[in-house]
Amino acid sequence: MPDAMALLHAQCSSCQNCPLGKTRTNLVFGVGSPTAKILFVGEGPGEQEDLQGEPFVGKSGQLLDKYLSLIDLDRSGSKIYIANIVKCRPPHNRDPQLEESEACMPWLRKQVRILRPRIIVCLGRIAAQRLMDPDFRVTREHGQFREKGGIWFMGTFHPAALLRNAAQKKDALADFQALRDKMAQLNLLDGG
Ligand code: SF4
Repeated sequence: MPDAMALLHAQCSSCQNCPLGKTRTNLVFGVGSPTAKILFVGEGPGEQEDLQGEPFVGKSGQLLDKYLSLIDLDRSGSKIYIANIVKCRPPHNRDPQLEESEACMPWLRKQVRILRPRIIVCLGRIAAQRLMDPDFRVTREHGQFREKGGIWFMGTFHPAALLRNAAQKKDALADFQALRDKMAQLNLLDGG
């Protein structure tokens, strides 16, 4: 439903449902194909994302793109969509507060309803705890798929965390390979 996503984006552009709306430079709604069956979700925009209005740009975005390319995915293709729990930047890159993520979740839920993804990959603790399990521990449970409501969820490291701790890059690569395997299992490898 490409038009539905564009319409939702337009509606979201004027959102002031939480205090983050007052301090944003740009809304960071999401990027990717409106027919994607794989949805990546991070916690919220950082400085570069806020300036450019796109999720996962700058160094952490380059790292995410690299992992995507290793399994033949890219953000301009038809297979993926990338969004965040909150769509406006929390000041000083702090974690989104509970009230902020509560206020913003309806937008993500609507994106999920439009996309109807088969797989949701949570990038980092905040997204995984919000979408998978409040007690999710990335170091312990990364790369493990679990099915909920017809969608396969998997949590992995946030690219920014990988930039701080290069020792985890090997585990992250294994998670992306597990994603590739799950895509094959669900017949999601064909097409652009
Ligand atoms: S973070 Fe979400 S709920 Fe808050 S103003 Fe931005 S779009 Fe609206």
